[in-house]
Amino acid sequence: MRYSQMLIRTAKEVPAEAEVISHQLLLRAGCIRKLTSGLYTYLPLGLAALKKMEAIVREEMNRAGAQELLMPMVQPADLWEESGRWTQYGPELLRFQDRHNRDYCLGPTHEEVITDIARRELHSYRQLPVNLYQIQTKFRDEIRPRFGLMRGREFLMKDAYSFDVSDEAASQSYQTMHNAYTRIFQRCGLEFRAVEADSGSIGGSFSHEFMVLAETGEDTLVTCRECEYAANVEKAKVVLPDTASKTVPATELNDCTKVETPGTKTVDRVAEFLQVTAKDVIKTMIYLADDEPVAVLVRGDREVQSVKLKKLLDANEVELAENDTAWKLTKLPVGYIGPVNIPIKMVADQEVMTMINAVAGANEKGHHLTGVNPGRDFSPAAVGDLRQITEMDCCPVCKGSLELTEGIEVGHIFKLGTKYSEAMHAVYQDQEGKEQTMVMGCYGIGISRVVAAAIEQNHDENGIIFPLPLAPFQVIILNLGIKNDETCAATEKLYQDLRGAGLDVLLDDRDERPGSKFKDADLIGIPYRITVGKTWEKEGKVEVRTRRDGSTSLLAYEQAASTIATMVQDELAALNQ
Ligand code: ATP
Ligand code: MG
Repeated sequence: MRYSQMLIRTAKEVPAEAEVISHQLLLRAGCIRKLTSGLYTYLPLGLAALKKMEAIVREEMNRAGAQELLMPMVQPADLWEESGRWTQYGPELLRFQDRHNRDYCLGPTHEEVITDIARRELHSYRQLPVNLYQIQTKFRDEIRPRFGLMRGREFLMKDAYSFDVSDEAASQSYQTMHNAYTRIFQRCGLEFRAVEADSGSIGGSFSHEFMVLAETGEDTLVTCRECEYAANVEKAKVVLPDTASKTVPATELNDCTKVETPGTKTVDRVAEFLQVTAKDVIKTMIYLADDEPVAVLVRGDREVQSVKLKKLLDANEVELAENDTAWKLTKLPVGYIGPVNIPIKMVADQEVMTMINAVAGANEKGHHLTGVNPGRDFSPAAVGDLRQITEMDCCPVCKGSLELTEGIEVGHIFKLGTKYSEAMHAVYQDQEGKEQTMVMGCYGIGISRVVAAAIEQNHDENGIIFPLPLAPFQVIILNLGIKNDETCAATEKLYQDLRGAGLDVLLDDRDERPGSKFKDADLIGIPYRITVGKTWEKEGKVEVRTRRDGSTSLLAYEQAASTIATMVQDELAALNQ
């Protein structure tokens, strides 16, 4: 491609609306443009990166034996009613009616449609296993679309679905996808981890997320320093120390006593006032679980993990209530709420049940209770692992020490079991001619999110540093002698030779100052830059510069094309082992 003919408009200024670096750089490099909240146009440069990712995904899915198909984006409500998700899915599902008042939605995911295909097309054990995938636009009416391509409302996803004869066979299909995903992200040249994950609204028994490591990631993952354990904090199991289970003689339990604690609305204030530590205080928070208020108890120095809470309550949505809402719904004095005689549903983190002679709100303004003992003084409706794991906790597998890292979820694989096949009657005949339910798995990759994640992980103050496999162009040639016919001819030949060797090349043939050519090449992040200028005129040499580390070397013009082609091919081959 010739730069002069390509729609690339770069910008120096950091766009005000863009908070994270990938969003800023994608806009500045002219890769995307915003249409409206959560909706973006992929301009040619951005689309080229997206296509690179698509190609890697397609190759590896095909290699793993999956078959590509393409399902409609618009889906009829009846299918979602069959699976039970029409009412369950919540406001992320964009619902609408056609001219005949029939209900539809825009596909946020395609379990229903694919299960419908499976029940129509697959009838015998001989046809299984099958893995079907598509690369297609999804729509989710995200509550907070943000960070550009990282959390759009419309985005590009690869979604795959496997159908098997048994749970055991489904585990094998799952493992095949786990391996394929590992290859995919390795081939992208990204630093990533696969972690145990919560299976969320998709459902199913267990799942893994693939996380690109980046400080700006919205997810936190916990990894063990001693063993292989890695999990999303939403899922990471907190194990109580052995000492927590010992029983305390009743004589050591104090009476529950109301004390005046004016102006102590926070855990720290009340702890200070009563000369105890946050560890001695029971923190009572009001959450809304599907709009119903629920009191959630954790130790004063702990944080509630809302995904764990959602699971324990079996709710579709949970959200911490604003102070006003909490007051309106419960008439309880925020800051002084506690578990004893609380008039609303209450659940507790397991650790709270091991506390002795604790301090808790008295449900009366300016008052707390001391000598609060779980079991004796209050009994939650449910107790479970509800809090966020920390680096102070130990590994649930080997008790080793833990490390917390930020990551961006780029892929998610689920073992679904028979959730959808049972609800929608996707069955096959086994060897004995008996009807059996198919066992399913589903597997997603956020293609557009990967491009953003790659930039979050790979950039510097001058712009994007595309990993070679995802770069819209592998090489950019800068013609710095645009007025010199010989230089133009030389760059033209180099351009054709590199293209002939199968490389994706951008030729900067614009009549611009060298300074702005260098700046743009850096900003758009092309991995290899070849400069044809004064050194070529004087010595017949071109300069090759690597975007990632800025290292440069001079190559004789005649050898340049073949040397660079080899460099590019070697780098790709190393990732494609
Ligand atoms: P998240 O927790 O980030 O909302 P999710 O668990 O809802 O993700 P899945 O349903 O597993 O996501 O979808 C599969 C993949 O699609 C995700 O791993 C992610 O890469 C991508 N994805 C999901 N939501 C978005 C979005 N709003 N914008 C861009 N990509 C997305
Ligand atoms: Mg989501």
